[in-house]
Amino acid sequence: VLEPEQELRAGQDRFDRLEGMRGAPARRVLEPEFGPGYGKLAVLRGQAQSSARPAWRLWSDSMRLVLLGAPGSGKGTQAARLKEHLQVPHISTGDLLRAEVAAGSPLGLAAKEVMARGELVSDAILLGMLEDRLSRPDTAGGFILDGYPRNLAQADALDGLLTRLKQSFDYAVQLDVPMELLVERIAGRAKAEGRADDSPESVRTRLKVYDDQTAPVIEYYRQHGQLTVVDGVGDLDDVFTRILEAIQPGH
Ligand code: ADP
Repeated sequence: VLEPEQELRAGQDRFDRLEGMRGAPARRVLEPEFGPGYGKLAVLRGQAQSSARPAWRLWSDSMRLVLLGAPGSGKGTQAARLKEHLQVPHISTGDLLRAEVAAGSPLGLAAKEVMARGELVSDAILLGMLEDRLSRPDTAGGFILDGYPRNLAQADALDGLLTRLKQSFDYAVQLDVPMELLVERIAGRAKAEGRADDSPESVRTRLKVYDDQTAPVIEYYRQHGQLTVVDGVGDLDDVFTRILEAIQPGH
């Protein structure tokens, strides 16, 4: 019989090793490894309430997501909910850029017109901004990246950046919504919010940019086995539930 301290240390080592096995069903991974007593280790690690938390919290302390979806796919809304649920920061490149514009910084001045037209701000600006943001300590427990990468060069840059930061991400989640519905939703939002880039002209450009440049990113993650597709049509709560299911270990 191990002393609690030894057991805790052994458990810690195992948990660390299991980190590398993220993605397999929690039960299948934990039970052979820990036997029926694995719950005790969770208790020793101060995770006694683990049953009330997402399964991945049992054996991993972080969740890093890349959210992909066209303008109007509901990405921003779902990201805000995920942030609450997972307790990790929501990093929206659109929000970061809008903050720069509002502050009137040089970066904001450079981005303002491009954004109003619905085109992409330069990859170099985005990468610098993202590197700053991902280097902040609050991302240690994970993050939800929203609005990046938007083209293959950015996908490549993200891989490089995460490698430099000794990080990776767990899932690229694509919120899938048909084009007709996107147009309808954005038209509704334009009335409700009056966003500067919700003019019909800009919306057309953004959807075209998405089709031409961002759709290949989805293919890229599919080929790398990192993609999980979630049906984005329907009630907000239902879509949220689908996302949570999609990011459970083993999915
Ligand atoms: P949307 O609802 O259209 O997805 P976002 O809030 O994500 O809007 O982005 C708004 C605008 O900010 C984009 O149309 C683009 O001009 C700029 N932007 C945001 N993220 C990026 C990015 N990764 N690369 C280039 N431009 C970006």
